Amino acid sequence: MKIAVYPGSFDPVTNGHVDIIERAASIFGKVYVAVIENPEKKANFDFATRMRMIKGAARHFRNVRVESFKGLLIDYAKKRKARAIIRGLRAVSDFEYEFQMAQTNRKMCPNIETIFFMTDSRYAYLSSSLVRQISKLGGPVRGMVPDNVLNELKQKENDGK
Ligand code: ADP
Repeated sequence: MKIAVYPGSFDPVTNGHVDIIERAASIFGKVYVAVIENPEKKANFDFATRMRMIKGAARHFRNVRVESFKGLLIDYAKKRKARAIIRGLRAVSDFEYEFQMAQTNRKMCPNIETIFFMTDSRYAYLSSSLVRQISKLGGPVRGMVPDNVLNELKQKENDGK
């Protein structure tokens, strides 16, 4: 069985992420969605909330498991016996960073491939930071994030008021 890990901050998870999860899950036997738990990198949503949101969004995929990881991604990927690291690409602006990360991980661990999924055109514009900004300003984010995330966003805005 081929195993992949899909790492990210998912701050919050969007429909663009869910689309990548679904497509990866249709190719790989098992996909571990790995939420970065990094105390140095400041996230908007706390770690527990990010985990809850993505767990809710990925609940219906039978071969997907949501976990967290600290430290080096390749160490986590090796522990899970993954053959591939999944990442998504939207615009050229994603490329430089992703290319550098993929090369670095390949240098450290040549037998784990980074595999890129091109965004679906429906989600090409979509990012977690965009969703956060729109939500903060009271704009409509329905259709950009899974339904369970809508509630969390509303809650956050109410707490902030
Ligand atoms: P990170 O903080 O590691 O970049 P993100 O949570 O922002 O993590 O994203 C995780 C991965 O999903 C990245 O490879 C990113 O390019 C990809 N991604 C984010 N949004 C989309 C989208 N709308 N369509 C396709 N891929 C996406």
